[in-house]
Amino acid sequence: MPELPDLEIIRETLAPRLAGVGITFATVRRPLIVRNLFGDDFATRLTGRSFASASRRGKFLLFGLDDGATMAINPMLAGRLKYGAPLGRDRTRDAVVLRLSDGHELRYHDAEDMGKIYLTADLAQVPTFADLGPDADDPALTIELFRQRIKRHTGEIKGTLTNQEFVAGIGNAYADEICWCAGIYPFRRRASLDSAEMERLYRCMGTVLEKAIETLRTRVGDAIDVEVRDFLAVHGKAGRPCPRCGSPISEVTREKRATHFCRTCQPGLLVDR
Ligand SMILES: [Zn+2]
Repeated sequence: MPELPDLEIIRETLAPRLAGVGITFATVRRPLIVRNLFGDDFATRLTGRSFASASRRGKFLLFGLDDGATMAINPMLAGRLKYGAPLGRDRTRDAVVLRLSDGHELRYHDAEDMGKIYLTADLAQVPTFADLGPDADDPALTIELFRQRIKRHTGEIKGTLTNQEFVAGIGNAYADEICWCAGIYPFRRRASLDSAEMERLYRCMGTVLEKAIETLRTRVGDAIDVEVRDFLAVHGKAGRPCPRCGSPISEVTREKRATHFCRTCQPGLLVDR
């Protein structure tokens, strides 16, 4: 699932390439993916427009268009954007293809058909958008604000980190990384964290995301459709040695979601449900 660091690199890559570039032709191959909140035809509305801006909010990529509308992409589990020279043929799960005035194309592919591409003049109309908490890397999210906001969330700490209404942009992979960095067992309840642990969690949220963005900036290049995760410390590394202590990384799977952590560095009672 693309998370904040992945989407930030996609934004950085696409922003200068798309600025001022026109959309000469739009094809919707899988209508399930698109939601045009203007109510008219998605492809017709996009054709002839040009890109004005590229930004990110939580797990949404936002492309401003020259008519003031926004194309908001929420890739969910498996959405991928591919940018470059036109492909010779469409792939089965290519959902939307935009041909660009400079000869490139932007292609949205989704193996799970779960992502969405919205067209809207008002982002508040996009489902879940208005409920997003501050971005996890927003400088305005101070330790004081973090402590204040987390009081509302009584559940397990990993679930809270991935709750987009608490902070936006963190998913399964980076939540594991942040908990490992902070030495906190991911299934602990928020109320069991003392003040020092809460501060470590906050600091690690910042450093893990910042370092991941720096790493991805050197690793991703133009292949923005490939998710690079091999540099992570624990997520996706079950059975491999913990980079801090050498103990094997543990895996717990709940509701199809795997959590990876180190039982030595992140002690806690295994909650089995
Ligand atoms: Zn360890």
